[in-house]
Amino acid sequence: MTSQLDRRRALVSAPDVVEVVRDAVPELRPGEALVEMLVSGVCGSDKAGAHGEHAFFKPPYYPGHEVVGVVVAVADGVDEVVVGERVTVEPTLVCGHCKPCRQGAENLCENLEFFGCGYREGGMADAFSVPARRLHKIPASFSDYQAALVEPLATPVHAVRLAGDLDGKTVAVLGSGTIGLLTLVAARHAGAGKIVSTDTLAAKRDLAVSLGATAAVDARADDLARAVRGELGESADIVFDCVANQATVESAIKMAVKGGTVVVVGGARKPVTIDLPVVQEYQVRLQGSATYRWEDFDRAVDILASGALDADRFITATFPLADAAKAFAAITSGNEVKILVVADRGGN
Ligand SMILES: [Zn+2]
Ligand SMILES: [Zn+2]
Repeated sequence: MTSQLDRRRALVSAPDVVEVVRDAVPELRPGEALVEMLVSGVCGSDKAGAHGEHAFFKPPYYPGHEVVGVVVAVADGVDEVVVGERVTVEPTLVCGHCKPCRQGAENLCENLEFFGCGYREGGMADAFSVPARRLHKIPASFSDYQAALVEPLATPVHAVRLAGDLDGKTVAVLGSGTIGLLTLVAARHAGAGKIVSTDTLAAKRDLAVSLGATAAVDARADDLARAVRGELGESADIVFDCVANQATVESAIKMAVKGGTVVVVGGARKPVTIDLPVVQEYQVRLQGSATYRWEDFDRAVDILASGALDADRFITATFPLADAAKAFAAITSGNEVKILVVADRGGN
């Protein structure tokens, strides 16, 4: 049994080494809350980070940035949340005073720290401390599983917002992993017309169609841009690249309409080469999208509350915290959609 004084937490200690270590429950610093984890998702960025392939953070790190829990203590003066509330973490820990923060683009904070990605605390733990101002309350009607999808959905919500008005537009979504499928859901919710998704796996293509894609194309097609245009019946007004490698960025630019937009949503592992003459001559807008802002979390909650997504179907595997290493191994397989680590208080 975990005592009040210690806790277990996952640690990616070296490339492809995930351990569960025991240490003291942290003392709260000003402005912080102590939260007991209920569930914590494993993200594509965790996969890259654990392999040592993420562009911006490397082991060792304490994972868990898609976390739902219950507030069990707050530091003096904290009034954003109260003990007993169920919350999810907005993991972008922003400074609040740099130029982007002052301009309301706190996701682009120049002094950004990221909870669960290189920060001293992560959510994949019996309990963790976090700045209380980064906590969002979860509606009582939500299951823990639904709540675990708020953070992953906020990323596509942000990307869709950056894309502009989607009403009636033709959309392509490259990749049908968690981010690709949630981008499809967010684009559908924003009023897109035809949406064509892609993936190499038939099961994920089927899931895309069941979530509202007009069609789903095998990403291994010889000419993916042509195949997607064929299903759309025209070029794509907006392409969301949720894979972001050399091949997908090339295809994305080819399937976009002249004057269209390519939004890079996926976390690129390394630089890619762009056909700049085409980008210029066809006036293609290449738009990066980084995490989310506070209002994107609120919109994600609204979309989930509308019943747009069956969380139980979307979450394809769960592992107790004690088996965090197995959860990371499972995401590496690529066959699962969303994997959660779940509380197992009293476990070893
Ligand atoms: Zn994530
Ligand atoms: Zn800042």
